[in-house]
Amino acid sequence: MHNNNKELTLSAPLSGPVLTLAKVPDAVFASGAMGDGIAIDPLNDTLYSPCAGVVIHVARTGHALTVRADNGAEILLHLGLDTVELQGEGFSMLVKEGVRVSAGQPLLRYDLDKVGRQCKSLVSLLILTNSSDFQARPITLKNVKVGEPLLHIVARQNTAVNANEQTGPEVHGHVRVAHRGGLHARPAALIRQTAQGFKSQSQLHFAGKTAPCNSLIGLMGLAVGEQDEVQVSCQGVDAQAALQALLGALSTALPEDHHVAAPVVIAPRNRPAEAGVLHGVCAAPGLVGGPLFRLNAISLPPDSGDHDPARQQQALDAALDQVRREIDGTLAQARKQRNNDEEAIFAAHLALLEDPALLDAAQQSIARGCAATHAWSQSIDVQCEVLQHTGSALLAERANDLRDLRQRVLRALLGEAWHYEVPTGAIVAAHELTPSDLLQLSAQGVAGLCMAEGGATSHVAILARGKGLPCLVAVGSTLLDQAQGLAVVLDADGGRLELKPAAERLADVRQIQLERQQRREAQQAQAHLPAHTRDGVSIEVAANVASSPEAADALANGADGVGLLRTEFLFVDRQTAPDEAEQRSAYQAVLDAMGDKSVIIRTIDVGGDKQLDYLPLPAEANPVLGLRGIRLAQARPEILDQQLRALLQTRPLHRCRILLPMVTEVDELLHIRQRVDALCIELGIAQRPEVGVMIEVPAAALLAEQLAEHADFLSIGTNDLSQYTLAMDRDHAGLAARVDSLHPALLRLIAQTCAGAAVHKRWVGVCGALASDPLATPVLIGLGVSELSVSPVQIGEIKDRVRQLDQAECQRQSRELLKLGSASAVRHACHQHWPLR
Ligand code: PEP
Ligand code: MG
Repeated sequence: MHNNNKELTLSAPLSGPVLTLAKVPDAVFASGAMGDGIAIDPLNDTLYSPCAGVVIHVARTGHALTVRADNGAEILLHLGLDTVELQGEGFSMLVKEGVRVSAGQPLLRYDLDKVGRQCKSLVSLLILTNSSDFQARPITLKNVKVGEPLLHIVARQNTAVNANEQTGPEVHGHVRVAHRGGLHARPAALIRQTAQGFKSQSQLHFAGKTAPCNSLIGLMGLAVGEQDEVQVSCQGVDAQAALQALLGALSTALPEDHHVAAPVVIAPRNRPAEAGVLHGVCAAPGLVGGPLFRLNAISLPPDSGDHDPARQQQALDAALDQVRREIDGTLAQARKQRNNDEEAIFAAHLALLEDPALLDAAQQSIARGCAATHAWSQSIDVQCEVLQHTGSALLAERANDLRDLRQRVLRALLGEAWHYEVPTGAIVAAHELTPSDLLQLSAQGVAGLCMAEGGATSHVAILARGKGLPCLVAVGSTLLDQAQGLAVVLDADGGRLELKPAAERLADVRQIQLERQQRREAQQAQAHLPAHTRDGVSIEVAANVASSPEAADALANGADGVGLLRTEFLFVDRQTAPDEAEQRSAYQAVLDAMGDKSVIIRTIDVGGDKQLDYLPLPAEANPVLGLRGIRLAQARPEILDQQLRALLQTRPLHRCRILLPMVTEVDELLHIRQRVDALCIELGIAQRPEVGVMIEVPAAALLAEQLAEHADFLSIGTNDLSQYTLAMDRDHAGLAARVDSLHPALLRLIAQTCAGAAVHKRWVGVCGALASDPLATPVLIGLGVSELSVSPVQIGEIKDRVRQLDQAECQRQSRELLKLGSASAVRHACHQHWPLR
């Protein structure tokens, strides 16, 4: 068969249904410990050579042999499971060790009935025993006949790349994978991206299997679980650096990974059946009513199999290009909106779209005359099958991402407009929806989603939660038998889809929906007005932003100002530092975007775990306890000086307030104040801008009174204050539910901060995530906070909340909360005193 240097297509040595190794009922073969490969449940009685080569080993008991192909790949052909125990009975080996064989030559004949009766299973294996040098990619998982293409073999990069990148020793390291749920699509995409930053070739080894770090599917196919130990090997000029970077990327959980374990209400499995109700699993909560709208997936007609490969390849390339551009557009949008979930999910899709395992398999099928549509579809099916049999539920759900790409590329190939006409307010029912379906459906204003299949940890579920779209998964195929347009109630919290709701029930649900919608609209309508409590205390509701377009967005949403501009956006993801002029114009753009409102600009908070390429800092044993925030000013004073100069040149300067991160003692503040004064003199500026201090370490909260003496305002960073008070990593996926800023210890620190500031008549704001939590609004106001800096979309909601409250009452109740023993007790009490509507 086709032999292109190191590449080789193996033909089927037996006829029968094809299985992935994972489906083989033998733990050793199934785990891949013997190597990559494939299995066939044979229907014929002769084993044929899958390629030309030399027989290098024949089992004494005649049930197995190994052929070395001309490209060096060593292929073990093993007939049946546990057949060694038959001691050769029923087998007749047709070749001897050392002979040369041609492709398709008979190698071994056996008594189908006899062997079949006596052994555990006839499932036979084709295993690539030198899998560290070669990789096997299944071509088909259907029935095959002897001689049909079965498996594509390619040399791993360490044996096939150019010599330049091969020089240097191979280095190895071990590490435990910290990513929540193991190496599923997003962490695997991160590993791939990390590896691509180096010239060296890197591979991951786990449970006897190996995957090149540049293949997302290869990485996912290893089925590495959380806390599994993997080996990394890198070879090339920068092998050591690549190894360190990969070990770091594997052992650091993705911050957004807590979404994998997002608290979802799972419908009890064994609930009694209810007439007219379908049960499923809640992937995103909510209660809505509306017409059911069924969406069907694309189905392909049979393929004639005699297409012109060049034209089909061209069509596939063009379709892939189109989809790549579409995803690029989605990514740009997600970045603009700082939607991290969306960005990570679609970045993984982009990486999947370039995956060599998918592209090669499709190319192979096209070369054999397949239509591009069928080649792509089969290539996806094979990889879905692989993921679904890894034994990991999370990876099995990632097959949904592959099916998303199948649909998108098929649509592009078929020239179908990728657009559904779904009525606003509909409840969509589908076999399974994909992330890109979800974005489109959400933009069309659907009310809810139900899927026959799917899981609560899938990407589509994460996106549904982010969009506030009620979503039920795993409802079962009966869902798809329901009539188009049927009026239903989706009670996602209860895991129920009511197919025959009484008219009153439907009306009640619609009323609840309507009130929610009206409330949202009313909040938006009032968002541009100042927020006062019922007893007349003014609370400023500002926005946290990271760029000038976001600032414009915040102003449009009713922000009273910018409460926190994180300036790191200017410094990260680039090779050289932004100079003074660039910084000045970026800060000025934010001021200009905010009309006449004030903008609090925080000085750079990098260092520790946020490293900059152009700012080498020593590696830290405990990065979050190291050189970060204002501490950087001591190590690299010129960086802060340059930033202060840029800030001092913005106009009008009275609208620009400077905020210092990670302050722990008064001297740090005094030092910066002196620098600001000196620079003002140097630049001929008469009126100094206000300088505030972030309260984000317990030391600062405890010293608030002393700090307030020299600061113009204090702004509490509850994200870091929680991390340092509770001694829990704010990005730790496993602790996500416990890093709760409503912990009474935090409330005591906030109270102490406000009391300290009051001594010097300074105002206190909150710019950490707690400010965006409406349950916390009364507590913060009660403790003495007068500015809340929130995410731009929540301005209307938080202002509305402020207007419902009485500050004196908030004060009284908050004092009581300080005496409670846990964050959950505080949350419970808040729900009692100030219920959320
Ligand atoms: C905080 O720590 O609460 C804060 C606002 O700063 P950042 O999240 O940027 O560390
Ligand atoms: Mg912080």
